[in-house]
Formats: sequence, structure tokens, C-alpha cells
Amino acid sequence: MDEDLLSKADVYDVIIIGGGPAGLTAGIYTTRARLSTLLVEKLGIGGKASITDRIENYPGFIGGISGPDLVHNMEEQAKSFGMRTVFGEVTRIDFNDEGNVKKVFINNEPEPYQCLSIIIAAGNEQRKLGVPGEAEYTGKGVSYCATCDGAFFRDLDITVVGGGDMALEEAIFLTRFAKKIYIIHRRDRLRATKILQERAFSDNKIEFIFDSVVDEIFGQAMVDGVKVRNLKTGEKEGLDVNGVFVFIGLNPGLSFLGNIVKKSEDDYIIVDKEMKTSREGVFACGDCCKKNLRQIVTACGDGATAAFSAQHYVERIKGEEYV
Ligand code: NAP
Repeated sequence: MDEDLLSKADVYDVIIIGGGPAGLTAGIYTTRARLSTLLVEKLGIGGKASITDRIENYPGFIGGISGPDLVHNMEEQAKSFGMRTVFGEVTRIDFNDEGNVKKVFINNEPEPYQCLSIIIAAGNEQRKLGVPGEAEYTGKGVSYCATCDGAFFRDLDITVVGGGDMALEEAIFLTRFAKKIYIIHRRDRLRATKILQERAFSDNKIEFIFDSVVDEIFGQAMVDGVKVRNLKTGEKEGLDVNGVFVFIGLNPGLSFLGNIVKKSEDDYIIVDKEMKTSREGVFACGDCCKKNLRQIVTACGDGATAAFSAQHYVERIKGEEYV
């Protein structure tokens, strides 16, 4: 939908914040319930799934499906039912309800988009190592996206930092390009799913450096290596690598919310099983919520539930609820 055709005078039934699998699924459900729906996305549609080469555990695709294909299909599906999209960063939400209208400000523009309900599906952001050299060499050897940058490291030695699903999935993907991959993990065993561990352990391009952390990333114009410290022995060594891929988990990026919904100590949104937040008319779904399992399939499930709850909320305040 052409952004120019979106009128800020309209009051949408629902505004969805975030265009990953949770938000897109919510969009499919709200539009099929015939709620007027606007999805706001900061960067690009699809979230982390759009930069994941292959998704193997989303049901229905034997052998997996490419992340970009999966989210593209979700987006087209939602659009086919009438979901509209606008690109921009939500900078503020005004909850001073006047006749239940909520105001969503984008890119600090003075005119907000308006809606009756909000579904927050803002996902989260990749965690940074926070070591010297990381910021300086980002884009010069330091990367957070194997699908985007892997091909730049053809026949080179690289390191992947982390011990979760992402680190192993991405390291296995990177074996297509790199000559050698050192996976540096701070413990002596991995957090990742067992099937990924089996694959990584049996790949002769991958070598694990356990109980260790990266203290510094160094180089000249580009990355030349990392300083590694063994946490058990205190031993330090330099490792010559041209690339550093960081996959050490995620942090919610919800500063735009302030304290307007209740959050956990680690800053995730607290929802009930109907994906209701502490604020009436505001729902949340996917990775930005406090929960134990963050997968595409669980994000989609959350999105459907949040949409269903939003539908009932909107119909109730319009006096149209089917009970
Ligand atoms: P994760 O599961 O939280 O694992 C992060 C890893 O990084 C852990 O091994 C952790 O070590 C390590 N780590 C954390 N902070 C560190 C630091 N400062 N320095 C060094 N190491 C550090 O995160 P992830 O692998 O990035 O995955 C993110 C989420 O996406 C997870 O919930 C995962 O299940 C999900 N995911 C889903 C799919 C899918 O749906 N198909 C695919 C991939 C990932 P410890 O183990 O010591 O804590």
C-alpha cells in the first residue's frame, strides 16, 4: 500500500507494531476478522526470520523453507486480506484515551496514526558483545547476519561467538563460504538444540573453543583477529580471523513504550495467556513478550491469540461483540 494513501485522520481498529512472524500472523487474523489494520515496521518486513537462510522447524515444510520466502508469503497473505503497512519507527504512544482512541507517533512526526487497539510485536534486537573493537569493526569484519555477509568471507577463517541455536545454525550456514570457523562459547557445553549440536560437531570446518570469551577485536582497516580468554585457566591467546559473527542472544528494544505496560525485570512485556498486557486495549505477541520459548511457530501462535483478543476488545467497545 502506498504510504501516501494512508490518512492519519482514519482511526484503525488495530495498529500492529512490528512486521515479524508474530505481527504478520496477527495481521492475517485481524484482517480476516475485518478489522481495519495498519502494520508499522521499523526496518524491513520479516524480522530475524528474513535474515535466516533456512527454517527447519516451522511445521509443514519437510527439508525446511527459506526464511525470506516464509515471511514474504506471510506478508502477501496478510496484504491479500487488506492489511496496510507503513514504514517508520514508533517513537511514542499516547494512551490518554479519548473515546478509546490511541495515538501512535512515528519518526517523531507531530501527527500520529490513530487506533482503537494496539498489538505490540516488536521482536527484539541482537545483543552486542560490548568489547573493544566491536563497534569500530562492525561492517568491517564484525557481523550480526550470516545470510547478509557470509559470502564476503569465502575461503577465510572466521569466528562465531555464542552457544545457542542462532550461533550454531549460522555457523553451519557459514561453512558454505569460510575455510575454518571457530565457535567461541563461554561454557563447556552448548545451549543449542541437540540436532544442531550433532551437525556442528560432525562438521570438520567447525572447531569449538569452550569456556572462553572474546576480550577484544583487533585489526587495521578490517578485522585481523580476536583476543580470546579462557575463563577457567585465565589463559589469553590471539586468534587470527577475518570475520567475527556475534550471536549471543537478544534484548527487547522497547524503549518507546516507557512504563506504559508492565514489563519483567529483563524488560520483556508481561502478557497473560490471551496476550493481554497490563493496559486495556494493548496486546503483545512474539519475542518481545516474557516467555520461555522464542520460535517462529510460537510467535505465530501468539500473533493469532493477540489478534483474537484485539478483535473481541474492538468489537466490545463498538458494541458489536458476539457473545
Ligand atoms: P540464546 O538461545 O539466548 O543463546 C545465546 C547464547 O549466547 C548462549 O549460549 C549464551 O551463553 C551466549 N551468550 C549470551 N551473552 C553472552 C555474552 N555476553 N558473551 C558471550 N556469550 C554470551 O540466543 P540465540 O541463539 O541468539 O537465539 C535467540 C532466540 O531465537 C532463542 O530463543 C532461540 O531459540 C530462537 N531461535 C529460533 C529459531 C527458530 O524458530 N527456528 C532459530 C534460531 C533461534 P549461555 O548459554 O552461557 O547463557
